[in-house]
Amino acid sequence: MTPAIRVHGLVKDYGRTRALHGVDLEVRAGEVFGFLGPNGSGKSTTIRVLMDLLRPTAGSVEIFGTAPAAGGPGLRARIGYLPGELSFPARMSAGEYLAYLAALRGGRGRRRTGELAERLSLDLSRPLRALSKGNKQKVGLVQAFMHDPELLVLDEPTSGLDPLLQREFLLLAREAGARGATVFLSSHMLQEVEEVAGRVAIIREGRVVDLDDVRALRARAGQQVLLRFAEPVPLAEFADLPGVQDAALDPSDGTTLSCLLRGDPMPLLTAAVRHRVVRWQAEDRELEDLFLDFYRRPFPSTAPAPPAPSDRPAPGSAATRPGGVR
Ligand code: ADP
Repeated sequence: MTPAIRVHGLVKDYGRTRALHGVDLEVRAGEVFGFLGPNGSGKSTTIRVLMDLLRPTAGSVEIFGTAPAAGGPGLRARIGYLPGELSFPARMSAGEYLAYLAALRGGRGRRRTGELAERLSLDLSRPLRALSKGNKQKVGLVQAFMHDPELLVLDEPTSGLDPLLQREFLLLAREAGARGATVFLSSHMLQEVEEVAGRVAIIREGRVVDLDDVRALRARAGQQVLLRFAEPVPLAEFADLPGVQDAALDPSDGTTLSCLLRGDPMPLLTAAVRHRVVRWQAEDRELEDLFLDFYRRPFPSTAPAPPAPSDRPAPGSAATRPGGVR
């Protein structure tokens, strides 16, 4: 089956700045796909190439098997696009603008406008220029969803929405997925992506550093393990065990070992029982922790290039705070 979106070796330069370093992605028809990464990682650039608002420096993109530049209005009609930066004609009301868009689409979407505006608490009579950022975002969402497109390409859709409306948006995205539409959702918020998406690509500095099923990603997040021993233990017995990462002993008396465990627990257990264990504690890590790993640590070995130390966010910086990575 032809994928809804195919991105192959996509490179994009803005003058001398390379924003995308060879992005590869395939979004299957009918899936809700999350495109997750902090601000500046290349999400909007990828999306703008998909929408033919930018042309690739190298590589290629296809939507439903067609290059966006060759697809014309026929292809555009199958897509609902919410840009990251919205700009509207100043003189129209929200309702007039949406009616105008519906007319451009041959009347498609007129029927759903009122229902969507109501669900998002959008006052259609207000002039667009008088709308707050959040209300403009609602207009953007209505125009993206109103014609029930086969593909929704949504760039940071909940930006500026309060939590109640974020929930309503997630419901809309889920409904679109349930009726068979493909949803490509970019976000820096893990939580919202995790709630709706089946698969997720994680982008960092213009490269996709991971792409997997949300469930598989969660399983890979592993467990945080704490082991307390009756006597001090040598760190070297644990540090290089298969599946064990970040092993550390408490500096006070060396009897408490903490580590991250991924995969088979047997090597760690076998090493532990050579000593007298007085406490064992293992907690499942959240997907959030795995996501933050990509920003706290060097790239995993599969990644194309290690980051310079200055690229890593400092502990406690916005990029290491829960809830979002900016
Ligand atoms: P995201 O959508 O993930 O926030 P962007 O795709 O907007 O990321 O940006 C990726 C990189 O490209 C960033 O380093 C950004 O500063 C740079 N960039 C984006 N747009 C432009 C532009 N119009 N001119 C120059 N650099 C840009």
